[in-house]
Amino acid sequence: MVDLAIVNGTVVVPGEEPRLAELAIDDEKVTAIYPAGTAVPADERIDASGLHVFPGAIDPHIHLGGYQDLAIDTEPGTGLAALGGVTTLVNYFKDTGSYLDLVPTYIETYEGGAYIDSAFHLQLLTEPHLGELAETTHRFGITSYKINLAWKGREKAVFDSDRSIDNGWVWSVMLAMRDIDPEHMVLNVHCENQELKNEARLRIEDEMDPSLRFYEQLAPDFTETDSVLSMMLLARMTGVTTYLVHLSAALTMEALALDWADNPKLIGETCPHYLMHTVDSDAGLKATVSPPVRTQRDQDALWEALGDGRLDTVGSDSNPILHKTKMGDGEFWSIKPGFDGVGLIVPTLLDGGYHRRRLPLGRIAQIMAENPARIFGLYPAKGTIAEGSDADLVIVDLEAEHTVTDDATAAHSDFSIFEGMTFRGWPVMTISRGEIIAQDGKLLGKPGRGRYLRRQVAASSGG
Ligand SMILES: [Zn+2]
Repeated sequence: MVDLAIVNGTVVVPGEEPRLAELAIDDEKVTAIYPAGTAVPADERIDASGLHVFPGAIDPHIHLGGYQDLAIDTEPGTGLAALGGVTTLVNYFKDTGSYLDLVPTYIETYEGGAYIDSAFHLQLLTEPHLGELAETTHRFGITSYKINLAWKGREKAVFDSDRSIDNGWVWSVMLAMRDIDPEHMVLNVHCENQELKNEARLRIEDEMDPSLRFYEQLAPDFTETDSVLSMMLLARMTGVTTYLVHLSAALTMEALALDWADNPKLIGETCPHYLMHTVDSDAGLKATVSPPVRTQRDQDALWEALGDGRLDTVGSDSNPILHKTKMGDGEFWSIKPGFDGVGLIVPTLLDGGYHRRRLPLGRIAQIMAENPARIFGLYPAKGTIAEGSDADLVIVDLEAEHTVTDDATAAHSDFSIFEGMTFRGWPVMTISRGEIIAQDGKLLGKPGRGRYLRRQVAASSGG
């Protein structure tokens, strides 16, 4: 007798054809996948007739505690993620202090309020961060770090960083990562050439027009692509896994078709806002983000790249913020980039991917679960449906239509750029380690059940 059986559902194992099957779940794990009709004895049965059972989504890019306190963001952010079928996050942290001191408080705060599990990415800003990299990696099992190249020239003023955030810094960090553990370490890079962005602004700032179209011209496509080309080179020279966050441009997708991008350690991510919005979006200046949302042609190119494997993952890049904080003092130049959009990875892939562009469900399961799990060292406990993997699942109704309201972010933000948009294909149940934590738009799990996820790293080579 197992704890839970999911019967009559169509199971979507990443990379495979969906098939009718029964799942047996016991002690937080999937213990077996049986042929449909087996009627495995179980304490509780879920009838998934007419529904599809996917591995729980993994959001590899989220900023709980970015604009606001982690203690404020964790419970609502992880709850909204769970409602959207997300069972694992990888959350970003950014501080100029020592992560050796800070990470224990991050873990304690996160585990105090979270509905779902999370690993952490740390942003590298200072020379001491690089000096402590090996110790941070081994002590906390953190194998992914980030550099934001759009901060070049503002490091001292904004972050009190003691060095220039540039390609030289990226190279140094990659070399250090290669020494620590070339198999598991991942460098996440925000690719924008800030010198070109500065020049773009100088050229057009007198013609300021408070619109998404003008905002996009402050960071035109080639400012992203230029930086991506440099990262392709450094990824090749160092052999370090290089994860290009939130890619936005058709021109960048052309770069990812070059021979040099044919590198299994070069990974591309995009986000729901680039896949569902353009410069003509009704969301207007609420949808300002870095890099900006672009044209229909860019959006189409991103979908094509998700289909053919030039792009591997979709991260929400959620950054919970109140509308009045985002809009600054009301003047265009003071608007802050970013917004909350947690929990829409699955609806975006089902509506935009499956229904509108015929992306196969097995491919969608790779994008939303298997790929981020493999890249960030969480596989096979997370990211698939297999004997022995965590029973992290999302059951979806491919035909359910749901219109997003501002409530989608209400608990810790107060607006959604997706407000008024209708998605076809929506989660009806989310299961985390065998526990039903969300069903039909209601949270059932308790905050504080989520766990911090340590990741595997090669043993320290002395020192
Ligand atoms: Zn981000």
